[in-house]
Amino acid sequence: MRFVVIGAGPAGLQAAQTAARLGAEVVLVERDVIGGAANLWDCVPSKAMIATGALVSRAHRAELLGLFPLQPEVDLQALGRRVRDIEQRLVSSWTDQLEHQGVRIAHGTGRLAGPHRVVIDHTEAGREEIDADAVLLATGSYPRIPAWAEVDGERVLSTRQAYPPPVIPERLVVIGSGVTGVEFVHMFRSLGSEVSLIVSRQQVLPQKDPEVASALETDFLERGVQLLKGARAIGIDSGEKSVTVRCDDGRSVEGSHVLICIGSVPTSDGLGLEAAGVVRTQSGHVPVNHHCQSNVPHIYAAGDLSGRLPLASVAFSQGHKVAEHVMGLHTREHRHLDYDKAASAIFTEPEIADVGLAEAEAFALGRKIRVTKVPYAANSRALIDGDWRGFVKIVSDPATGVVLGGSIVGAHAAELISVVALAVTANLRVVDLAESLFVHPALAEALAEAAE
Ligand SMILES: Cc1cc2nc3c(=O)[nH]c(=O)nc-3n(C[C@H](O)[C@H](O)[C@H](O)COP(=O)(O)OP(=O)(O)OC[C@H]3O[C@@H](n4cnc5c(N)ncnc54)[C@H](O)[C@@H]3O)c2cc1C
Repeated sequence: MRFVVIGAGPAGLQAAQTAARLGAEVVLVERDVIGGAANLWDCVPSKAMIATGALVSRAHRAELLGLFPLQPEVDLQALGRRVRDIEQRLVSSWTDQLEHQGVRIAHGTGRLAGPHRVVIDHTEAGREEIDADAVLLATGSYPRIPAWAEVDGERVLSTRQAYPPPVIPERLVVIGSGVTGVEFVHMFRSLGSEVSLIVSRQQVLPQKDPEVASALETDFLERGVQLLKGARAIGIDSGEKSVTVRCDDGRSVEGSHVLICIGSVPTSDGLGLEAAGVVRTQSGHVPVNHHCQSNVPHIYAAGDLSGRLPLASVAFSQGHKVAEHVMGLHTREHRHLDYDKAASAIFTEPEIADVGLAEAEAFALGRKIRVTKVPYAANSRALIDGDWRGFVKIVSDPATGVVLGGSIVGAHAAELISVVALAVTANLRVVDLAESLFVHPALAEALAEAAE
C-alpha cells in the first residue's frame, strides 16, 4: 500500500505516522515546515505568547498572594526566540519520529495529476511523479483577508504576522470577535497594548453560550478593552503613524496597528482536484464522508480542508482515522468521530472551554435538560491560587442523569474540560462524576460538586 499525504499539519502528520506504523509505504509532502500552520503560525505560537501574557497578568496580581507589586516588562526579542525555539523543537521531534517510522519526507509542493498520480515540485529543485494507492489531502487553510484590506506586515497584520509581532502595538484594533480574535485581544492586552475590538454582532464569540461570552466581555471591559458592538469593518485608512478602521455604522476607530481575524480559507487552489475528479464546495472545502473520503473513495481530505471543525485536535483524530481506514482497519470495531463531542477551548482570561450540548443550544432545540452550576469562588483551590473568576456548568439528561455537555469559564478550563469530555464520550452519568474521588484541594472538585 503506497499512501501519499500532502500537507504535514496535524492531520497529515498523524495520518502518515499511523499508516507507517500499520505497515504502509508512506510519502509525506510538505512545502513549508513539519507540523504545519498549527506549529508555525496558529496553535503553538499563539499559546506560547499567551503563556507569557498569563505570567504578566499573574504578576499584576502578586499583591493578592502576599508579594510586593511586580512590574514585569516584555523582552520582545527573547519572546520571539522562545516562540521559534518551541517550533524548532517540535519540528525536530516530529521529523525524528517520522524518519524512525520509515516515512519518506518530500520537501516540496504536491498536487494530484490524476486519480492515482501525485506530482511533487521539490523545494530544492526538480519534479517527481509518483503513483499512489491512496492519497490524503491535508493542506489546511490560510487567513481570510477582505478585499478592502491590504496587509502590509507592518501596521496592518494578518494572524500570520503576529508571532512575534514587529513591535508590541501601542494601540491595537482587532477586527473579528471569534475565537482567534478574542485570544489576540487577551494576548496583546496582557502584553501591554491598548486594545479595541470590533464585534460585528451584539456579543463576542457569537457561537458560544451567552453566559460564557458575557463572562469574557466583563473581563475585557474591566481590563480596559474597548468593545465596538454591532459594527462591521468596511475599510482601513493607513496614515504615517496610525491606521483608522471604518465601520458600516459610521463609527471609526484609530490605532497604531490593525489585526484582521475574520476566519480562514481552505488551501485547495492548485491541488489538481479536477485532474483526479475530486469535487470541492464553493467555499473551497473538499466535502468528505465519515471516513474522510472525498467523492473519489481512495482520495481522502482531513483537517481544515475537510470543512469540519477547524481545530488541530480534530485534525489529529481525523488523520488517525484516515490511516486506519486506508489500512482496512475500519472492518474491525471502528468508531466514527463524533464532532458534536469535540472539546474546545479559548485561551483567554478567564479561560473558556466547552464540550457537547450547551445550555443555550438545548433551550433553542426545546430539549429538556438539567443544568447545575458552581462558581469558582466556592472552590478552595481557586481561592488559594488567588483567581476565583468563573464557573463550571454541567448539562445532563434529567431522566437518565447522563452528562450531555459542560462549559467551564475560569483558570485551567482547557485542562478541566477533558474530564467532562470523557464523561460525554463514555455516556457517564452525573453520579459517576460526583462519586469520583478527586484530589483536594483541586479545581476539579468543582466538577464533582456541579455534578451533585
Ligand atoms: C491563530 C490561530 C490559533 C489556533 N489555535 C488553535 C488551538 O489552540 N487549538 C486547536 O485545536 N486549533 C487551533 N487553531 C486551528 C488549527 O491551527 C487548525 O485547525 C489546524 O492547523 C488544521 O490542521 P491541518 O492539518 O488541516 O493543516 P495545517 O496546520 O494548516 O497545515 C497544512 C500544511 O499543508 C501544507 N501544504 C499546503 N498545501 C500544500 C501543497 N500543495 N503541498 C505541500 N504542502 C502543502 C502547508 O504548508 C501546511 O504546513 C488555531 C488557528 C489559528 C488561526
